[in-house]
Amino acid sequence: MAEEPKETEPLKPGFMNPVAGFGVTFKAMFKKRLTEQYPEQQKTTAPRFHGRHQLNRHPDGLEKCVGCELCAWACPADAIYVEGADNTEEERYSPGERYGRVYQINYARCILCGLCIEACPTRALTMTNEFELADSSRANLIYTKEQLLAGLDEGMVDTPHAIYPGMDEQDYYRGLVTEAAPGTERQTALSKGEAPQEASSTFGTDEPASREVTGR
Ligand code: SF4
Ligand code: SF4
Repeated sequence: MAEEPKETEPLKPGFMNPVAGFGVTFKAMFKKRLTEQYPEQQKTTAPRFHGRHQLNRHPDGLEKCVGCELCAWACPADAIYVEGADNTEEERYSPGERYGRVYQINYARCILCGLCIEACPTRALTMTNEFELADSSRANLIYTKEQLLAGLDEGMVDTPHAIYPGMDEQDYYRGLVTEAAPGTERQTALSKGEAPQEASSTFGTDEPASREVTGR
């Protein structure tokens, strides 16, 4: 049996159509605004936001990066370039055998996915909440190790410098080194072209501070 046709709603009078057309606009006028007044007002990012990278240090200032290149291999955008090198007792950047001599991240390529920080075995590489990375120059978007390296906190000495006396690399990861040993001084970065310092005479001066380990 054929269905009976339903009664349709009567059409609104023609003069109401423009008013109905503004319905969405009027509704939106009374809703909470989503516009952000950036850059005058900056919104706080989520605590685990993926922003600019940072190369971390041990509590005495030595670098955590061992130059293994795992971050570069994990990167899907080929944005990381690493060159490792050997530490020496005269010029030490990290507690172990190797350190990251050259470290660059190209932010014209990086998609801030975080795969590199997952791959890093030493937690040398993490991401900060800084997101203002735009620049009009490609060259400026390549961040160097010097730009990515974390600043110095209290108790740290800038690299290169000697390993904490009596400690080895494993002790650093066990958290046994909490600050630079007393009397720790920055070594000369000969590999970076720094001029060797002239040996200063100790005649008439106090004995250099002891570097004995006070506790493990
Ligand atoms: S965040 Fe992703 S794209 Fe950026 S350097 Fe790390 S792995 Fe590469
Ligand atoms: S940041 Fe981590 S993964 Fe990358 S080279 Fe350094 S130690 Fe290796």
